[in-house]
Amino acid sequence: MKDNKKDNKKSLIGIIILLIILLCSIIGTAIMLKQKNNSEEKKDLAYTELIKEIAEGKIEKIEMTVGSTSVKVKEKDVEKEKSAIVPNIEAFMGLVQQKVAEGNNIELIQKPVNPLLKISSVLFTLFPTLVMIGLFVMIFKMQGLGDKGKVYEETERKTKVRFDDVAGLDEEKEELIEIVDFLKRPEKFTKMGAKIPKGVLLYGKPGTGKTLIAKAIAGEANVPFISISGSEFIEMFAGLGASRVRKLFDRARKVAPCIVFIDEIDAIGSRRSSNNGAESENNQTLNQLLVEMDGFSSEETIIVLAATNRPEMLDSALLRPGRFDRQITIPAPDIKGRLEILKIHAKDKKIADDVNLESIAEDTAGFTGAELANILNEGAIIATINKHDEIENGDIEEAVKKVTVGLEKKARVISDKDKKLTAYHEAGHAVVSRYLPTQANIKEVSIIPRGVAGGYTMYKSDEDKYYISKTEMQEKLIALLGGRAAEKLVLDDISTGASNDIEVATKIARDMVTKYGMSDELGPIDFQGKEPYEIQLFGENIGDKIGQEVKNIIDIAYMDAQRLLMEHRDKLDAIANTLLEKEKINEVEFNQIFER
Ligand code: ADP
Ligand code: MG
Ligand code: ZN
Repeated sequence: MKDNKKDNKKSLIGIIILLIILLCSIIGTAIMLKQKNNSEEKKDLAYTELIKEIAEGKIEKIEMTVGSTSVKVKEKDVEKEKSAIVPNIEAFMGLVQQKVAEGNNIELIQKPVNPLLKISSVLFTLFPTLVMIGLFVMIFKMQGLGDKGKVYEETERKTKVRFDDVAGLDEEKEELIEIVDFLKRPEKFTKMGAKIPKGVLLYGKPGTGKTLIAKAIAGEANVPFISISGSEFIEMFAGLGASRVRKLFDRARKVAPCIVFIDEIDAIGSRRSSNNGAESENNQTLNQLLVEMDGFSSEETIIVLAATNRPEMLDSALLRPGRFDRQITIPAPDIKGRLEILKIHAKDKKIADDVNLESIAEDTAGFTGAELANILNEGAIIATINKHDEIENGDIEEAVKKVTVGLEKKARVISDKDKKLTAYHEAGHAVVSRYLPTQANIKEVSIIPRGVAGGYTMYKSDEDKYYISKTEMQEKLIALLGGRAAEKLVLDDISTGASNDIEVATKIARDMVTKYGMSDELGPIDFQGKEPYEIQLFGENIGDKIGQEVKNIIDIAYMDAQRLLMEHRDKLDAIANTLLEKEKINEVEFNQIFER
């Protein structure tokens, strides 16, 4: 804020000076014109006449002002002085001097210029140049070349956003509350020797509330929120990216404790691959960011939050300890979250009694917080157009349609049929896994789309393993194929949704046969060498045999999956229906279904 004020002051002074110059020039011009007019009025002697009279020796006194074309002359025998305009002073002077040299007695008086007139005439001549310079300075400033201190306008202020303004995301908020605590009372932590993360990376697609939650942290802790977007760096001139990052952190240090928020960090933090042009420019910026993050100590109470929806693009250097070593996924809201978001955004709007937010939440699977906020906003606009006193259910329905049509273009809205398919597919994975001793416990099952996948089944992470047994691999295949098996069993149709499962399963089965020697038929031999060599070694139809074994392993796993699902059809239905209703099942809810 301080720096911005200073900059504003600077440009204000600049504008005032420019105005003064402009005023002077106008006054000067006016005086000069007046003078000109005056002399015009008093121009009682034409130039040719004047020349003639000089030549004839009729002039006894010439009075001239420096820088002026107007002269006063006194003729012999005439009392009153006359004035004349001299178009070419130098030629005129030449003529006069020649006459004097010839012996004519002409008194020549040269008066200094009127000082005010002088300044304004100088300014007047310089005026176009000054305007040009001014324009240049302004243009350069806008492009961020001139005054490097003002190249970017990152916002830094206390925000009023609180955690209460962020709907849903309870677990995420819980994780982030620790950071609020740290910003509020850093000494409490440092005294304990506790290390607080310097950087937290927020993953999630656009509109899921990453910026909102970052602001809420700053708001809760009552510290400044300094934000900058990675994409701004892309348009910048060479070498500025790095210096901008340096300035950003200089500022942060001054106002610490504070939050630095880097939006779209993938724009600067992409993998450092080649080293030419824009890429190497990004590298400099990224390197500077790494230097800054390594530079401040954990006592400096600057927390860097960064957001991206493309985590796979990030340079791994960013994720190392002491940098963004904490990562939090911000998911699209489930039905409960959607309702809460709708409620928050309905608060400041006039909503009619017939509006049922619950049913809107039901109808908006896959919508982000930003899209839901947009629905209510559109609803308000439509209500205004329809001249309603309040936002009515019809207005909202229209708004949903409007927003949905926009989304349908992006092929994002999920039909009921797709939802059912996804629910059974994910339930299939989860139920099968539950009955496989080697498979990890289920942490979460969801039919909220994530990336290209329609839903997901999340397992609790295992402890690090050094080897995997054959049984474990076989069961892994059963778990992978559980999704497809459920589709077939319940809907008697199969979908492309299982393509990734099948790809992974095939790779595992092939590795079992050709890499880990787990096929009884073929024995413990590595078949992953070069093909002609293999044929030489094992005969013409070794490929057929390998193929047959891989197929056997997959077939058995698929049949096992189907058998398990038929045996536990009630659980499969229960999980799928819960998913259809709530879109997401956590570990506790999942296990409860099996304890019935
Ligand atoms: P992102 O940074 O992830 O792209 P934003 O934080 O900019 O998303 O969200 C855009 C807007 O959507 C917010 O300003 C807010 O109005 C609304 N919004 C998104 N998520 C939520 C949420 N969980 N609770 C309330 N409003 C939300
Ligand atoms: Mg954002
Ligand atoms: Zn699957």
